[in-house]
Amino acid sequence: MTAAGGTPPLSGGSGGPAALRPLLDETLDALAAGARLRGGPVPPGGPAELAREVDRVLTGEGPDRHALRRLTELLAYGAADPADPACAAHLHCPPLAVAVAADLAVSALNPSQDSWDQAPAATALETALLAELAALVGFPPAAAAGVLTSGGTESNLMGLMLARDRVLGGAVELDGLPPGRRPRIIASAAAHFSVQRAAALLGLGERAVRSVPVDRDQRMDGDALADALAETVWEGATPIAVVATAGTTDTGAVDPLGRCADLAERHGAWLHVDAAYGGGALLSDRLAPLLDGIARADSVALDFHKLGWQPAAAGVFLVRCEETYASLARRAVYLNPADDEQAGYPSLLGLSLRTTRRADAFKLAVTLRTLGRPGLGALVDACHDLALHAAAAVRAEPALDLHGDPLLTTVLFRYRPATDGPDAADRINAELRRRLLHTGRAVVGRTELPGTGPGRVRLKLTLLNPHTSPADIDRLLADIVRQGREVESAPGPSRAAQD
Ligand SMILES: *Cc1c(COP(=O)(O)O)cnc(C)c1O
Repeated sequence: MTAAGGTPPLSGGSGGPAALRPLLDETLDALAAGARLRGGPVPPGGPAELAREVDRVLTGEGPDRHALRRLTELLAYGAADPADPACAAHLHCPPLAVAVAADLAVSALNPSQDSWDQAPAATALETALLAELAALVGFPPAAAAGVLTSGGTESNLMGLMLARDRVLGGAVELDGLPPGRRPRIIASAAAHFSVQRAAALLGLGERAVRSVPVDRDQRMDGDALADALAETVWEGATPIAVVATAGTTDTGAVDPLGRCADLAERHGAWLHVDAAYGGGALLSDRLAPLLDGIARADSVALDFHKLGWQPAAAGVFLVRCEETYASLARRAVYLNPADDEQAGYPSLLGLSLRTTRRADAFKLAVTLRTLGRPGLGALVDACHDLALHAAAAVRAEPALDLHGDPLLTTVLFRYRPATDGPDAADRINAELRRRLLHTGRAVVGRTELPGTGPGRVRLKLTLLNPHTSPADIDRLLADIVRQGREVESAPGPSRAAQD
C-alpha cells in the first residue's frame, strides 16, 4: 500500500470499512485458493518442505503489494484445518463463521479492555457476558466475577494465585514460611501441565503440586484425594488448593466434583475446577449433568476455543465470590484513577493479569445471541454423537482396539498389529500417525495411556467438528487401518517417520 505512495488506510472510522472491503475480498479469495491447493486437512510433506515454501514466498525485496494475498494463500495452504473432518487430533476447534466475523469487528475497532475510555461498550459487554456465564456454571451472578483470558493456562494460573493469596495472605515471603505452612496444591495425575507451571510461576515450586492417582480413564480417585489431603496435613504442609479437572485433555474424564468440593471444604482449601475442555458440556442438556458440583468451586476455567467454536483466544476465568479477587486489584493513575471510578466509570484492569487486552468477549456474546444456548448445545451433542459412532465403529473393527467409552467428544484407541510385543504396537501406532500426517491425509492425535494389552501409545480423535458425518469417521478409521497394515508390512521405519 505504501508503495503506491501516501499513508496506508486505517480500519476504523467511517472510512475504514471501505478501505477494508477490497482487502477482505482479496483475503477471502486467497483463503479459498489456499484451501483448494491443500486439498486435505494438512499439506502433504514434512516440516522441511513447508519451511522451504515459506522461505520461497518470503524471498524477494519488499515492498510487495501482493504480500497479503501471497501470504494468506500460503497460510491457508499450510494450515492444519480443523474444518476438515480428517483433522481431529487436538482440542483445536473449527471456528464458526459468525464468531470470526465478530472477531473481525473487534480487530477493526481494537478496543482494549484495561480501561473504560479504551472500550466503552466492550467493557459493559464483557461484564454482562460474564454474568451470563456465571449463571451457566451455577454461580450466583450478582456475587460472581471473572474475566476473559488467553485460555486454560492463564485461568489456572489466576485460580491458583487467588488460592495462594487467600490461604497464605498477599505478598507472601515464601522463604520465611515455617515448615508447617508450606503450601501444597493437590491435583490429579491427569491434570493439565499448566498446574505445575503455575506453581512454579507463583513461587511455590513445581514440587508443591502433589499428584493424585487416576483410573484408566484418567478420572481422579476420590479416596486417593482424601488420602493425599490427610498426608499433606500430616507432613505439616498446608493444602492451599484442590484442582479438579472437568474434562481431561486426553480422555475427557471428569473428576468427582462433589467429592472434591467436600474434601476441599473440610481442609479449608480453595477448589479450582479446570473445565477448559468439559465446560462446553454446560451448553448441552444431555451432557451438563456430568459437571454437577461445579457450582461449588471457588474458581473455574472455561475455554470456548475448544468445545465452543470460537477462534482463539476465548478463555474464561470465573470466581464464585468477587471479594476473593482482591489480590489482583491494581490502581494505575493513568488508567483507572479512583475519582473516575467514583464518578461511575468502571474499569476491568484489576480483574486480569494482563493490561492491554483484546475484546475476546465480543465474538462469544455474538455467538450466544445468534445461536442461543440450545443452538450451541446442539453442536456439542452432534460432536458427542460422532464420538459414540466412532467408538462403536472402532469396537466393530477387529484391527482396532478401543481404550474406553467416550464421555465427551474424544475417542482413544489403537491399531492392533498382527505381530506381538509392546514395542511393535507402540512403534506401529506412532509411525502410522506420522505417515498419515506426512501424506496430508489425516491429522490424528497420539498420546500414551496405561491399560491392558501391550504398549502405551494410543491414537486419539478429538471430535469438535459438528459438520463431520458418520461416513467421514468411517473413512478416517479405514484409512488408519490401511496405514497400519502398510507400516506393519514395511521393512523398517520409513523416511516419512523421521521427517
Ligand atoms: C487445553 C487445556 C488447558 C490449557 O488451555 P489453553 O487454552 O491451551 O491455555 C488447561 N486445562 C485443560 C484440561 C485443557 O484441556
